[in-house]
Amino acid sequence: MIKTEVLVVGAGIAGLTSAAILSKLGFSVTLIESHTQSGGCAGTFKRKNYVFDVGATQVAGLEKGGIHSKIFDFLDIKIPDATILDPACIVDLKDGSSPIPIWYKKNDWIAEREIQFPGSRKFWELCSYIHQSNWTFANKYPVLPINNFWDFSQLLRALAPSNLVTGILLKSTVFDLLRICGLSRNERLINFLNLQLKLYSQEDVYNTAALYGSTVLQMCQQPHGLWHMNKSMQSLSEGLEDSLNKTGAHIFFGQEVNSIIFDSQAKFWKVFVKSKNSYLEYQANDIVYTPPPQSLLKHLKDLLSKEQSYKNRLTTLPAPSGALVFYSALKKKHIKRISSNHYQFVSNELGSLFVSISKEGDGRAPKGEITLIASLFTKAKDWFDLEKKEYIEKKKEYLEKISFELESQFNIASDNWLHKELATPLGFKKWTNRPNGIVGGLGQNPDIFGLFGLSSRTPFQGLWLCGDSIYPGEGTAGVSQSALMVSRQILASKGIYNFNL
Ligand SMILES: Cc1cc2nc3c(=O)[nH]c(=O)nc-3n(C[C@H](O)[C@H](O)[C@H](O)COP(=O)(O)OP(=O)(O)OC[C@H]3O[C@@H](n4cnc5c(N)ncnc54)[C@H](O)[C@@H]3O)c2cc1C
Repeated sequence: MIKTEVLVVGAGIAGLTSAAILSKLGFSVTLIESHTQSGGCAGTFKRKNYVFDVGATQVAGLEKGGIHSKIFDFLDIKIPDATILDPACIVDLKDGSSPIPIWYKKNDWIAEREIQFPGSRKFWELCSYIHQSNWTFANKYPVLPINNFWDFSQLLRALAPSNLVTGILLKSTVFDLLRICGLSRNERLINFLNLQLKLYSQEDVYNTAALYGSTVLQMCQQPHGLWHMNKSMQSLSEGLEDSLNKTGAHIFFGQEVNSIIFDSQAKFWKVFVKSKNSYLEYQANDIVYTPPPQSLLKHLKDLLSKEQSYKNRLTTLPAPSGALVFYSALKKKHIKRISSNHYQFVSNELGSLFVSISKEGDGRAPKGEITLIASLFTKAKDWFDLEKKEYIEKKKEYLEKISFELESQFNIASDNWLHKELATPLGFKKWTNRPNGIVGGLGQNPDIFGLFGLSSRTPFQGLWLCGDSIYPGEGTAGVSQSALMVSRQILASKGIYNFNL
C-alpha cells in the first residue's frame, strides 16, 4: 500500500499538468499511467525511422501569456521548441473555388476573409468582440460550472461588463451569429465554418455554442496562433515530466486503475491498480481523475450506486466521436502542391480530412523525407461491433480510401508511400484506455458548454475530474486550463484561496 496526498490518474497533458502544478506547490503527488509512456492523445510513437504524433499535431497557448507558456514559466522549465504556423491551415472546400489559407498575421487574414467571403465582415467582428470578452474572462481563471460558494466567487471575480453583454448569447449557436449578421444563407462560409468548428468543438455551425465557437475561430491569429512542435508532440509531456522529477513527484507507468473506493472511517480514498502481474493499492486524500468521465462507470461502481443522479448524468453524456488516423511517410520531392503544414479538405465519401505534414528536418523523418498524418472522425462504436475478419477488411478498405484521397489531393503517386498504416478507435482504446476509443471531449453545444458542462467537482469530496471533457474543453491548451482550475480548487479546499499564475 502506497500513501500519497494527491493521486493523479493518467499521464496525458491534463494529468501531467495538474500533477506538476500541485507538486510544485509542495503536495506529495503520485501520478499513475496505464501506458508505458506519457502524453495520451498528445503522445508520439516510433515506426521504422519515423516519429508520429498519435493525435494532437498542433498546439495553442505557447505564445507569451498563453496557457502552456504561463504554466511552464510557473514550473520554471523551458518552453519546448516550436514554430508558429503561418498559415495555420489551408482549407480546401473542393467546390471549385480557391483554397482558403488561414493566416497568422491578423491583417493578412482580414484581407483573405474579404476576398473569400465577401460581405462577412460583421460576422467576424462580432466573433472578435465575443472572443475578446471571453479572453478577459478566461484570464481571470473562472471556475465553471459552479458547484459551491467558492466556485461562484471565482466566477463573479472573473466577470467584466462585456461578459454581461455576451452572456445574452449563452444559449446561442454560431449559426445564430450568422443569422444576426444576415449570413444564414452564405453556403460557402457555412461550409468553411462547419469544417473548422468540427475540428475544435466536435459540432457543426448549427450546434456549436456561439461563445465557444467565437473563440476557437480566432485561435490561429495574432496574438495567439497555433504552433508546430519541433522534434515531436512528446516534448510537451517531456517538459512536464522534467518538472515532476525536479519536484520529487512519483510517476509510475504500466499501472492501470481498476477500482476506486472511499474509506469513510479513515477518510481517505483507496485506489486499486493492476500492474503487470501484480495488484497495488494506493491511499490518497485527493484524486485527480483524467480519463474520460465515462470511465468512472467502471472504476467507481460502488459509490455510483449510491449517487444515482450522478450515475445517470455520466451514463447519458452524449457519445463523443472516434477517430481514424492515417500515419504515413514519403520523400519530400514526391509530394507536390504543399505550402503549409496543415490542410483540411473535403472528400465526398469520407467527409473532412485534416492533414498534418512534418517540416523537413524537424526530427520526425530522415533527411529528404516527411511524415504525413491524416485524421477524420468516425463513429467509435461501429468499429467494435465487427467480427475480426470484418474488422481487418474494413480497416484495409479505409486505409486504401484515405491513401487514394491524399494521392489525388497532393498529386502523390501510389507507389511513393514509404510507410502507411491506420489507427481505428480500437487502436485509440488500446493506446489511451478511453472507452470505445472515444477522442476529444464532449461536443461544445450550448447545453454542454461552460456553465452547463460537467463539473470538475464530483459529488464525492476529494475526487476531482480534469481533462478534455471538463471546462474549457479539448486540446492540449484546454486541458491545461482545466488542470489549473482543478489545482486551484484543491488548494481552496485546503484553505489556500489566492493561488493564480
Ligand atoms: C486524432 C486527434 C487529433 C487531435 N488534434 C489535436 C491538435 O492538433 N491540437 C490539440 O491541442 N489537441 C488535439 N487533439 C485533442 C487532444 O489531444 C486532447 O484533447 C488532449 O490531449 C487530451 O488530454 P487528456 O490528458 O485530457 O486526455 P488523454 O490524452 O486521453 O490522457 C489520459 C491518460 O489517462 C490514461 N488512463 C486512462 N485510463 C486509465 C486508467 N484506468 N489507469 C491509468 N491511466 C489511465 C491514458 O492512458 C492517458 O494517457 C486531438 C486528438 C485526437 C485524438
